[in-house]
Amino acid sequence: MLGPVTTGRPTTARSHRRPRSRAIRVVLALVAVAAVLGIAVVVVPMLRPAGPRPLFQMPVTCGETWQLSTYPGHDDYDVDFFPTEGETWGRPVLASYGGTVTVAGINGSLGGRTPENPDGPRGRGGGYWVKIDHGGKWETQYLHMLEPPLVTVGQKVAQGDQIGRLGSTGNSGAPHLHYEQRRGWEKVETHFDGTPSGITTDEREQILRRVSNNCPAVS
Ligand SMILES: [Zn+2]
Repeated sequence: MLGPVTTGRPTTARSHRRPRSRAIRVVLALVAVAAVLGIAVVVVPMLRPAGPRPLFQMPVTCGETWQLSTYPGHDDYDVDFFPTEGETWGRPVLASYGGTVTVAGINGSLGGRTPENPDGPRGRGGGYWVKIDHGGKWETQYLHMLEPPLVTVGQKVAQGDQIGRLGSTGNSGAPHLHYEQRRGWEKVETHFDGTPSGITTDEREQILRRVSNNCPAVS
């Protein structure tokens, strides 16, 4: 008859081991739950459909005629704004629609192009820029501004609020406003006052003119 089988360890070890492995299981379960929650937090908003397109207006003063253009190598849907009259430098840049400022700072490097030195060293990227979240996954971007933006991150803006002044910071050949509308992570064709701009490709140069209807609401 065999005696009691032992592992050579004191039996008390097993009673110590069991709570420890239970603790590990609890930790692993918590990690798994956290991972699932983390994925849900990241993925669920990605899957959520975008809301309806806001009634965007041109990012420039009410009643003014501006040139909207693109060129080969720009990027599909990107629009460069140039005024058709008056001084370009310093022109007000307006919010296309109400929302919350999510970026207000420097993209790339500023370079040295100013009204006093328009052919100064070219910077990189967008220079002084602003991004506005309009809700429903819609956002707009405004690049190459002259000076630090007139708004700050987290600030709520209304349609037509001035967010900066037109300039030539970043990778900009001449003073202009580079402008984009995005739905989710995609750039889309810009629409103004409910009408598409017609700028959908950068395969060829395109230049058109439109009048801004970014006008104060009549109260
Ligand atoms: Zn541009």
